[in-house]
Amino acid sequence: MTITRAAVHHRPKSADAYAYDEATIHVRLRTKRGEPERCTLLHGDKYDWPASLTRTPMERVGDDERFTYWQAEVDPPNRRLCYAFRLDSGEEALWFTEWGFESANETELPTAGAERTLHYFEYPFLNPIDVHDPPEWARDAVFYQIFPERFANGDPSRDPEDVEEWDTIPDRETFVGGDLRGIVDNLDYVEELGVTALYLTPVFESPSNHKYDTTDYLRIDPHFGDEETLCELVSAAHDRGIRVVLDAVFNHCGWEFAPFQDVLEEGADSEYADWFHVHEFPIETEPRPSYDAFAFVPGMPKLNTGNPEVREYLTGVATHWIEVADIDGWRLDVANEVDHRFLRELRRAVKERKPEAYVLGELWHDASAWLRGDQFDAVMDYPFSYAVYEFLATEEMDATGFAERLTALRFRYPEQVTEVLFTLLSSHDTPRLLHRCGGELDRMRLALFVQLTTPGTPCLYYGDEVGMTGGDDPDCRRPMVWDREAWNRELHRFVRELIALRHDSPALRLGRLSFDSGACRGDRLIYRRTTGEEGETRTIGVNRGDVPTEVDLPSGAEPTFETDPGATERLGEGRWRLPARSGTVWR
Ligand code: CA
Repeated sequence: MTITRAAVHHRPKSADAYAYDEATIHVRLRTKRGEPERCTLLHGDKYDWPASLTRTPMERVGDDERFTYWQAEVDPPNRRLCYAFRLDSGEEALWFTEWGFESANETELPTAGAERTLHYFEYPFLNPIDVHDPPEWARDAVFYQIFPERFANGDPSRDPEDVEEWDTIPDRETFVGGDLRGIVDNLDYVEELGVTALYLTPVFESPSNHKYDTTDYLRIDPHFGDEETLCELVSAAHDRGIRVVLDAVFNHCGWEFAPFQDVLEEGADSEYADWFHVHEFPIETEPRPSYDAFAFVPGMPKLNTGNPEVREYLTGVATHWIEVADIDGWRLDVANEVDHRFLRELRRAVKERKPEAYVLGELWHDASAWLRGDQFDAVMDYPFSYAVYEFLATEEMDATGFAERLTALRFRYPEQVTEVLFTLLSSHDTPRLLHRCGGELDRMRLALFVQLTTPGTPCLYYGDEVGMTGGDDPDCRRPMVWDREAWNRELHRFVRELIALRHDSPALRLGRLSFDSGACRGDRLIYRRTTGEEGETRTIGVNRGDVPTEVDLPSGAEPTFETDPGATERLGEGRWRLPARSGTVWR
């Protein structure tokens, strides 16, 4: 077999070669799917060359539709690395260096010339300060997303005037009176689910029910409470070991934001004229705004974060709420449209105030440019949710496709990023999971099972756990069901058990994901989660089909969790029957 050179790819100082921690560098190589037979990393210290040269076999860690991915871990004693790849396939052997290919059949080491190390790839120095190091707690967390207007009404005295009945089906303008007191009052409920972190959509003063059009970033919306209520909420959550992350809408403000009002009144003479991207004065809103806005929404003018005054103001807002209320991080709204320079300043300011704060970006596409350690700890992993819908809700994709998609997604980012990617299956911006599943509960249960047994920081959307449904927003923002008679209690218990399962297993939280590509077929998905140090391994089987399937496992494997308790049947040594529409975890 010859090696397809055109498919071989490696880029230093990217998700292909990065510091995993202060001692370890991960080096990855991409080749054509199924090629070559072996990859070896040749590596050493360029100042101690060639005496330091070492060969480390690379692990074949997965395939997607087009490529095979290889990875090696090295702990260079002097934190420096020069390296090349050796690819072996039958009779052909190649060296791959930064300068290209050469036959390895003829040379013991690549490039025989005088300036040999110049041809090698280089990881010049592992400076610990540069290591992308997301907060430790986020790796173990299970989040719960709350849309405060719809979660619970704990303080009717603060209700908006036109408040509607709690059990209404909301439209875009509906208010039902949810508030921060309602969250404080229901922290026991959240704690009993096993949740360890809350993500609240915006809570600052705004005329809308969603509050993504901020009037005043330094004031809690009076319908939601006040500064004291927020402090009480965070403090009461912390007492339960629950962190609180708020929503930073810094891409754009609301129509009523005082600086924008000043620009509306004073035009080009306003001292805030440069806080926005105004194309032409006077300001027009029809047919489209004469200034940059979120989409073309006139009431959401885009903030000019290129202006140092705006940056100072917004970083001040971010640090203010850490100082005042001790919140544990920020989720940045429309983060993909905010300039990188501001995001870097914001991260620095937030981490100076609270080093373990979690900084999360709303991104829907490949987020590599934001995940280099200088901007976000993690992003909302919508690509994961789409893979789950296609495999389990719509069945547009089979198990092989799902394994390949997740493998490709995993190799976009360094491993420590994958460990904290914010995986979600419902949100205030998407139809609820049950709706995606066409109301079929067994599909929804399997989707949650996959979410809680794959890498990332999982987030549940309020009410999914009791069987709430709803289509695109505003329908996905229905008021929380508090009438326990109306709950799906079986689903509620199932979600609690899944969260407990994850908390109990380091492998399910932090283990490396690998697919058993030989066993993944059609409706049957098989993957493993393995932790290095403790050596814990879990094998997960999912059968989305209507008939049972069989699974081969190493002997001694025992089920530790079944979506249908007791239904996984041992057929013989290492051979198991996985029932229709079910999932099992084996230890
Ligand atoms: Ca209220």
